[in-house]
Amino acid sequence: MKNFDNKQEKTLVLVKPDGVQRGLIGETIKRYEQCGLKLVAIKMTIPSKKVALAHYSVDPEWAFKTGTKSIEAWKAKGLTPPTEDPIELAEGVRKQLITFLNSGPVVAMVWQGMNAIGVVRKITGGTEPLTSVPGTIRGDYTIDSYRASDVDKRAVRNIIHASGSIEESEKEMAIWFKPEEIISYRLISEAIIYDINLDGILE
Ligand code: GDP
Ligand code: MG
Repeated sequence: MKNFDNKQEKTLVLVKPDGVQRGLIGETIKRYEQCGLKLVAIKMTIPSKKVALAHYSVDPEWAFKTGTKSIEAWKAKGLTPPTEDPIELAEGVRKQLITFLNSGPVVAMVWQGMNAIGVVRKITGGTEPLTSVPGTIRGDYTIDSYRASDVDKRAVRNIIHASGSIEESEKEMAIWFKPEEIISYRLISEAIIYDINLDGILE
């Protein structure tokens, strides 16, 4: 098959502690699985602070973007942000995320398929539950807002983490899985999803 999209693309997904507690492991797997992606690694684990720190490592670009967005949101609501420094604010969000991830079991998975990173993010939905659209996992199963989580100084409860880019997925897969835990295998259903030649269907 000539295809310019990479069928081997992989993405790291976490069902965060709120997703596990809400009984959404199966529903999450079902949604990624039924769209045609292939599960190539899975484990349940209680992430140590060290693993959580490695996962949410300092990315200055993310920190600036997240901090700025959050400060603007506080001001738009007529509230005073806890700080005017976006990096400091994002550092607070990062600390809350590490505490949250370390609070209970999570399910880590690697999903593979054509445009897996973008497809998983589409199915997962936007970051803030309040605005993630119905039909997505976050839109259908969460209710939280940045405002509520900021006021209570806790991580926003949005059920899933999903890699945002190839660089992110490569970094994150290495944190959660040994190379031999990521299984290379063929699914029969891939023929109908990807192959040009459909000989063999008709008897
Ligand atoms: P994601 O890729 O959709 O998960 O979003 P990001 O990579 O931008 O952020 C990582 C995580 O940080 C999100 O899943 C949220 O838990 C949290 N987060 C991101 N932006 C904000 C924000 O503006 N306020 C708060 N409280 N948390 C945020
Ligand atoms: Mg992200």
